Amino acid sequence: MKKIIIAIDGYSSCGKSTFAKAVAARLGYLFIDTGAMYRAVTLYAMRHGIADDPAAVVAALPQMRIEFRFNPASGRSDVYLNGENVEAEIRRIDVSNRVSAVSGIPEVREKLVAMQQEMGRAKGVVMDGRDIGTVVFPEAELKIFMTADPKVRAERRYKEQIAKGEPVSMEEVERNIRDRDRQDESRAVSPLRRAEDAVVLDNSSMSLAEQMTWIENQFKHFES
Ligand code: C5P
Repeated sequence: MKKIIIAIDGYSSCGKSTFAKAVAARLGYLFIDTGAMYRAVTLYAMRHGIADDPAAVVAALPQMRIEFRFNPASGRSDVYLNGENVEAEIRRIDVSNRVSAVSGIPEVREKLVAMQQEMGRAKGVVMDGRDIGTVVFPEAELKIFMTADPKVRAERRYKEQIAKGEPVSMEEVERNIRDRDRQDESRAVSPLRRAEDAVVLDNSSMSLAEQMTWIENQFKHFES
């Protein structure tokens, strides 16, 4: 199969990253979790007490160096903020509660989208996010729009947070998912929406193995 760009977009906590990582491993592609980049900017803003001040976030953008470094232990890349591994910290619920506001700032998107386009230039990449098929790579050969029942998504995220030792309540997780979906869909700049040429994958009652079988069928279109 020739090298392509696979764009995976969709709602919060749909299992996009788990799926994208498995697809990248299957093809030997690079996996890029763009949500981690928005989370890293949000963490920087929170640490500097400027998360509620878009102008200050924009002014601080040149001070933020965001990069991915491969972690052999997990088999995926961790996100680094100014040389510090912030992979665990960016997944906290307080970061999740503020990330959609920060990611709505146009200059933040401009900076991160340019980085993402550079990372995917050589193709052979699976990128997951909210605007990959619509804005970052509108020319991506395969676009997938993921969705799942909100209850199922909340349960998955709740179990994940608890497994990480974060004492959250189911209500808080449900509220966070609902709020982020709403903010991500309604923002002025590159809102979350399905690209017209994206195939929909509703994984509410699908295992990862079933999702992999599903994508093998998609690959058939690219076999030469
Ligand atoms: O994918 P994840 O849930 O970690 O993304 C966190 C947040 O980052 C999303 O809720 C959204 O506000 C923002 N995001 C975005 N565009 C992307 C990826 C994530 O706006 N491409």
